[in-house]
Amino acid sequence: MQLCYGLDIGGTKIELVACDETLAVCHRRRVDTPTQDYAAFVQAVAALVEAVDVELGIAAHAIGIGLPGVVDRASGCQLSANVPALTGQRVGHDLQQRLQRPLHIGNDLQCFALSEAHGGAAEGYPSMFGVILGTGAGGGYCVEGRLISGANGIAGEWGHWTVPATLLAKHSLPIFDCACGLRGCVERYVSGSGLAFLHRHLGGEVSDAATVIALAQRGDDVASRALVIHRDLLGHALASVVMALDPHVIVLGGGLSKCEALYRELPAAIAPYLFRGVRVPPLLPPKFGDAGGARGAALLARQRSLYRLHSREGGDTAP
Ligand SMILES: [Zn+2]
Repeated sequence: MQLCYGLDIGGTKIELVACDETLAVCHRRRVDTPTQDYAAFVQAVAALVEAVDVELGIAAHAIGIGLPGVVDRASGCQLSANVPALTGQRVGHDLQQRLQRPLHIGNDLQCFALSEAHGGAAEGYPSMFGVILGTGAGGGYCVEGRLISGANGIAGEWGHWTVPATLLAKHSLPIFDCACGLRGCVERYVSGSGLAFLHRHLGGEVSDAATVIALAQRGDDVASRALVIHRDLLGHALASVVMALDPHVIVLGGGLSKCEALYRELPAAIAPYLFRGVRVPPLLPPKFGDAGGARGAALLARQRSLYRLHSREGGDTAP
């Protein structure tokens, strides 16, 4: 039996799943994430992998890891807000040295998309775009079940496109700074925390998206206005995704994917920003959601081992 391990590195937990040749999850284990001490982080990952090797009585032939944040391809250094210990470190390189077996690195958002493309909500569609709307906004793009990570590994990072000046003027919004170093990023307005931020900008006082949505449902004027703006900006951003990539389906993830009204209201918000006659793709809730991250990482390892994509998409393996 050939096993692949997938690891999802979260802000509080590291989850490992083992998948067999049929991509079925046959083992699962979680440990706490050391977020501040890098040496402890590397040790925790190595100990987790070795513990599962012993439990299963066989070593996985390849390992996929979904890391939070992005990798600077030139230096191989990680930039991560969720796990500060990783920032500035060559995480892929160091884990490769420690684990001594094929290692395939993706980001957590891409792993979410890949998991939904395989046996998830997007199963059977020729292409899919996974849209994460949580603390941040990002995603991943899969074609024929394969993750397209791109030359820099950032394909799917739609959350850091700039909101057009015309839309900011339409809603009398300022240009918000973004933690990524750019300004006016879509993420600052349309993620879950972006919705709460919009609400506060309009004079509201709550700090989380779920409360803003609940207030709007009870007829609160400020919350309702925040939602109208949010829907328009999100509609424009997803229309841009459709115009650029034309996915056959969009699967939502992250905290806002639990908001049922989004699935009803977003198609009408997207349509005005598309060419006339272009169909809005189906918008679906996730099957695995955040829990699919580790499974997606295992799929990444399986696919890249199978097709040796790392040789064509340089940098997808550990640098
Ligand atoms: Zn940004």
